[in-house]
Amino acid sequence: MRRRMWGRNPKTVSTDATVGTVRIDRKVWDVLRELHQRLPHVEFLVVLYGRRLGSAEFTVEEFYVPPQTVTAASVEPDMRDVPECMAGFEQVGTYHSHVNMSVFASGTDLRYLTSSFPITLVGNNDGEVAGFVAEDVNVFGDNYRLVARLEVHVERPKELLEAAMTAATRIKVKKGGFK
Ligand SMILES: [Zn+2]
Repeated sequence: MRRRMWGRNPKTVSTDATVGTVRIDRKVWDVLRELHQRLPHVEFLVVLYGRRLGSAEFTVEEFYVPPQTVTAASVEPDMRDVPECMAGFEQVGTYHSHVNMSVFASGTDLRYLTSSFPITLVGNNDGEVAGFVAEDVNVFGDNYRLVARLEVHVERPKELLEAAMTAATRIKVKKGGFK
């Protein structure tokens, strides 16, 4: 089993360019919102599972909350027993709360989160969320971690999407039907 290092620290280069999309299943989003409601004064971190559909295209469909010690401005998760996969989905990244602060990737976020996971989502109590994607590159023998932005979309639960897809196969669109 491949083990991810926690706190690996290559040189990080970030850009404000938006390079892709992360689609969060609404039921996972609802859990995140509930955690903000219950823990409005402290940070918290949730590990996210989903699919990587392209170099910067992700879904988030499951979650895991590791044991963690938190304050208003810090979170120290115990990542030792975090599963690599969850319900058939791969670990894609993390979500953490910035409580009432704006949503941005802080120096600590860049050092620990984007260097350990493909995606990092930062959210606050107002429901604002920012997405970041990181990719390792080697330039002239030096390792760099490139960090760019992702658009974040909250999608309907996959059950609804599947039902809609099944239903759509029963609907035939007649040629010339649109007037
Ligand atoms: Zn942060």
